[in-house]
Amino acid sequence: MVEKRSFEIARETLKQLTARKLVPTPANYQSVYNEIAGIPSIQPFPADFLRDLSQSLPLKTPGQQKQKALLDYAIDRLSWDGVKTALVGYGGFVSTVATDSPGSAPLAGAEIATGAATPNPAALTSEFFVQIARLIEYAQPALDTDDARFREQTQQLLQAMRDPKAEALTLKNLLSAYSHRLSFAAEDQAEIRNGLLKLLHLVFVNIGELSIDEQWLKGQMDALISVSTSPLSLRRIDELERLLNDVIFKQKDAKFKMLEAQDEMRTMLATFIERLAQMTQSTGSFQGKLEESARLIEQAKNLSDIAPVLKDVVGTTRGMAQESQMSREQLGAMQERAKQTEVELAKLHKELDRVSLQARHDALTGALNRKGLDEALIREVSTTKRNASVLSVALLDIDNFKKLNDTMGHATGDIALTHLATVARECMRPQDTLARYGGEEFVILLPDTVLDKGIEAMTRLQRELTKRFFLAGTEKVLITFSAGVAQMTESETPAEAIRRADQAMYLAKRAGKNRVLGA
Ligand code: GH3
Ligand code: MG
Ligand code: MG
Repeated sequence: MVEKRSFEIARETLKQLTARKLVPTPANYQSVYNEIAGIPSIQPFPADFLRDLSQSLPLKTPGQQKQKALLDYAIDRLSWDGVKTALVGYGGFVSTVATDSPGSAPLAGAEIATGAATPNPAALTSEFFVQIARLIEYAQPALDTDDARFREQTQQLLQAMRDPKAEALTLKNLLSAYSHRLSFAAEDQAEIRNGLLKLLHLVFVNIGELSIDEQWLKGQMDALISVSTSPLSLRRIDELERLLNDVIFKQKDAKFKMLEAQDEMRTMLATFIERLAQMTQSTGSFQGKLEESARLIEQAKNLSDIAPVLKDVVGTTRGMAQESQMSREQLGAMQERAKQTEVELAKLHKELDRVSLQARHDALTGALNRKGLDEALIREVSTTKRNASVLSVALLDIDNFKKLNDTMGHATGDIALTHLATVARECMRPQDTLARYGGEEFVILLPDTVLDKGIEAMTRLQRELTKRFFLAGTEKVLITFSAGVAQMTESETPAEAIRRADQAMYLAKRAGKNRVLGA
């Protein structure tokens, strides 16, 4: 009978529990009972435990959220298959911290004690930490901090990151101390930069106020004021430097002419005073003579005695009159010259205004300057539109030009600029336009040219330049450049196209220089 058999199985179960030295818990009892009775051992479905697990899953992405809903559904239906599918699916939406590079040894003690979530230990390799160390080192100059403690912390951290035997917990503590300090240092830097920019702006505004009469200087100051506003970028700093150089040059020129004029005035004043002194002297002797004559006249007994005295008086008076006439004439002449100098000075200023307003060409290289470029762009863009054609713009920047200046002198730097302009002009088609955009940067307008052809043209110029050196004394100098080319789109302004070319040029620099990239 079934009941009797159950009874026997129960007795046998108790025996087996004792024989196997198992604790007589309900779970052990059931497991042995099932084994003896030949019932397949089915574990109860741990719904509560799985719900707990489901609650603690992070839900950062829609994918993760969907898989969690599937998991909850499977738990409600007590479906192991459903749970398995949902968890495998969830695993597909978990991003790993870093990829393992082949051959890299896992960091000793890679299980980082992060409390709740333990990252994938295989991802945290020593190579990964070495990379972070490099990243921190690259970012270090930007912080430019004089905080000695912070520098020390950084060194400790870098050392630990490069040590494959470093304890994960030590690394974690060092990193968290570093990032805490870093947040202050970064804030400091941002404030310093903003403060400096404000100060610079203020200086320019004040100089602008002072030079209100100087039209040309005022124009330059306005440009400086507008460039010295945030946000500050490398390009803006370049622009500031270029404008400041212009202002300094023009100020020097004007100052020199002003000093010349002052010198002339000083000479004239000295002469005037000398003349005045002579006049006082002659007035003094005239006085003396008159007094003498008056005494003689008093003593004179008859007219014949007076006649020679009168003759003397007349002579002295005439002399005096002549002298003062002479002085007056000289004074007049001097005044005339002063007036002329003033007129001359005014003319010089006007000329300076005119020249700085009208100049379209760069004096050193003969290429168009910024003003000339602006006008050329207006012309080219309208021709391009009229002919339904295309226009490409190239921006090129000489490589390592500062080094050339530093090692071979500014004069050689100037020759290099002229050399580049000459080779460029020879390489270009007659309809192309060359303009000096900044210090050692040039823009070339290429009408009727699609992007690929523009890149080709710049590469050709680059090749030509590598063939042609120039001489600095007896030394042969070769220069290279990096360039970006952009084909202007219908919806963009020329300035936007140049900006794209500029970005491509910066990428060319970053990719190793001496190359041409399309925007
Ligand atoms: P990169 O390869 O990244 O372009 O570096 P670089 O040295 O060429 O560039 P950087 O902007 O650091 O230096 C440009 C230098 O050009 C600085 C400035 O003194 C110099 N410069 C600007 N205008 C003139 C000029 O008219 N004549 C000379 N000789 N040098 C100039
Ligand atoms: Mg430059
Ligand atoms: Mg350069």
